[in-house]
Amino acid sequence: MSSFQQYSFAGKRAIVRVDFNVPMDKTTGLVADDKRICAALPTIQHILKNGGSAVLLSHFGRPKNGPEAIFSLAQITAKVSELIGTPVQFAADCISTEAFELSQNLKPGEVLLLENVRFYKEETAGDQAFAQKLAQHGDCYVNDAFGAAHRAHASTTQLASFFPQDKMAGLLMNAEIENAQKVLHHAARPFTAIVGGAKVSDKILIVENLLNLADHIIIGGGMAYTFFKAMGGHIGNSLCEADRLDTCLDIIEKAKAKGVQIHLPIDAIIADRFAADAQTATSASAEITDGWMGLDIGPAAIKDFTSVLRASKTILWNGPMGVFEMPAFENGTKSIAYAVAEATKNGAFSLIGGGDSAAAVHQFDLSEQVSYVSTGGGALLEYFEGKTLPGMQALAD
Ligand code: AMP
Repeated sequence: MSSFQQYSFAGKRAIVRVDFNVPMDKTTGLVADDKRICAALPTIQHILKNGGSAVLLSHFGRPKNGPEAIFSLAQITAKVSELIGTPVQFAADCISTEAFELSQNLKPGEVLLLENVRFYKEETAGDQAFAQKLAQHGDCYVNDAFGAAHRAHASTTQLASFFPQDKMAGLLMNAEIENAQKVLHHAARPFTAIVGGAKVSDKILIVENLLNLADHIIIGGGMAYTFFKAMGGHIGNSLCEADRLDTCLDIIEKAKAKGVQIHLPIDAIIADRFAADAQTATSASAEITDGWMGLDIGPAAIKDFTSVLRASKTILWNGPMGVFEMPAFENGTKSIAYAVAEATKNGAFSLIGGGDSAAAVHQFDLSEQVSYVSTGGGALLEYFEGKTLPGMQALAD
């Protein structure tokens, strides 16, 4: 793998795998949130400033059967041009003669955006011949798409193999890895992991791995109720994965054996139905009335979790504490976000996992008050599950 900072881009065309999978505003047809594009700008600008040109390659949504207008990257070309500050050319596909002509004619400082790479089934299949064609677009390969690094797709893995001496991680990819490694390998103690979200089954592997790393594990969100049920509690209509009860008991046992403290939310904000305008009340999480469901952590849980976070020196957060998309059930997630920000101000290092935790931190306007907000949801989760990310591995091979 080459070093991005030291690589000489002068006169070279760099194929840059970016993650421009941005949300769109359905009414205006404009980019609704440009954070992912902004996150790749330092890498693109570095290449241009150093005399190179850039061929940008990205996925966009999940098209199933070839090209579809709603998944076309043509929709974001103007936004990308505006943010980079230079006109960006657009190739209407990835591997036609016209597309190759455009990339071959790029001059230093110029940028070409290729159409959605997932319009080709060969992309998700990790097809070597397709990757070989993509490789003809440039002289070197830069992977800056941390959000797609857990996928073994043609543009994230095979493509790298065609540039054995000229493949490298971009600045965003490097920052993501550096911040994740700080938590994985050099965590100042006490290290507290906050895990939330809907399902135990989605988070079981990360919790298992965190049992070897963290001093405290705070468990919130819908997944907490399967734990209460497993311990004999009454959880009403709260989320429950009946086939995961033993898993929860096993986690509690392992935590005891390893000296890791598991913190479950003592109380909950319960609702009589899953709706923004439902009737609500506060209840002990293990004594929820039949017909009601826990949709957020309660005030005692907030107090308890906040005091753990105050004493923490490293914090990793993945998954909301409740249904934070509805104002009636956002208080738990919001309070924890503030507690993480306060701990950060007092010297803790805080890493916010992508996906819903990142969305929550942005929603409460606290992104600047935590140490790092990851752009990778699934990728960060898999990294903390202890898995090797194919996109990173392909650069190292
Ligand atoms: P995940 O994708 O697993 O991180 O889960 C995030 C989703 O979990 C969010 O959309 C939340 O609304 C949802 N969620 C959090 N807490 C609860 C809960 N107590 N009951 C139902 N859904 C929840």
